Amino acid sequence: MLKTRITDLFGIEHPVIQGGMQWVGYAELVSAVSNAGALGILTALTQPSPEDLAKEIDRTREMTDKPFGVNLTVLPTINPPPYEEYAQAIVGSGVKIVETAGRSPEPFMELFKEYDVKVIHKCTSVRHALKAQSVGVSAITIDGFECAGHPGEDDIPSLVLLPQAAEALDVPVAGCGGFSDAKSMVAALALGGEAIVMGTRFMATQEAGIHQNVKEKMTEADELSTNLMFRTMHNTARVFKNSISDQVVEIESTGSATFEDVKDLVAGQRGRVVFEEGDLEHGIWSAGISVARVKDVPTCKEMVARLVSEAEEIIDGRLQSVKA
Ligand code: NAD
Repeated sequence: MLKTRITDLFGIEHPVIQGGMQWVGYAELVSAVSNAGALGILTALTQPSPEDLAKEIDRTREMTDKPFGVNLTVLPTINPPPYEEYAQAIVGSGVKIVETAGRSPEPFMELFKEYDVKVIHKCTSVRHALKAQSVGVSAITIDGFECAGHPGEDDIPSLVLLPQAAEALDVPVAGCGGFSDAKSMVAALALGGEAIVMGTRFMATQEAGIHQNVKEKMTEADELSTNLMFRTMHNTARVFKNSISDQVVEIESTGSATFEDVKDLVAGQRGRVVFEEGDLEHGIWSAGISVARVKDVPTCKEMVARLVSEAEEIIDGRLQSVKA
């Protein structure tokens, strides 16, 4: 058993959290992750309305009696969602764990505190983590440059960012970005992390409700299989390298591109078709560099059990053996 302040905080068996993922974080995956002893996280904005989110929370409850949370991401969007109403749906459904991301959770903290919700805030810099701690979050996920989605603009990989955050903060810190297996999990614990957050690895599981073509493509990927787009718009996103993300990078390389020039290529609704229909070149889909480390498509239960038992083997075996 690997026990940390984060396993205690969220009442979970293993220090493993499934990060919020747009168009991926549905009840089937979330309940499978939680049933495996890790923390599953539903993605609020994947649901078309706050009412649908409440129904998805109910569906998740039907499939697990273990703790799970909901991700609420506030970043630029083509059609701004009613964030406050999504937050109300979360607390109204009795969810007690929320992963906030994208901007300071401050506007939501009063509501979440009123309902005894524990907030784990995901951010990409120590300064943002300190700010989130000062407004009362219970834990921080620190997103290294390797991560899928939005790694921020500082470009600091987990190897440096995680220990910097763990040393600067009083609340427990989970490492995110580059974590996918027992080796990286043990590294996170050594760096001061008290859990790992994995998105990409959980996409390539049996229970993730995305097309088999996507999962198979992930198992063939290597460390050069992602693109960084929106660099010129200060909204950097790490996504899988395909003809669409190549085009976006190419358009941005002119130096004068605006969001309007790439809007039709990057729309999340197009990326959703990739996941639903398996046409890998239809749109943008997020993946972290750790996609290089994805070699198979196990069930969540198999993957989490393997992760934890191999981590224990590394701690008791390899790390002991290098001690003189
Ligand atoms: P969407 O279709 O509204 O937008 C597609 C992409 O364009 C997103 O990455 C978005 O951030 C970006 N974007 C939108 N307007 C922009 C602008 N004016 N300037 C620069 N970039 C802009 O988004 P979606 O796919 O429906 O996703 C909904 C929300 O979830 C967005 O806020 C998105 O950023 C976020 N998201 C986060 C992750 C992550 O890994 N953290 C992954 C996917 C989506």
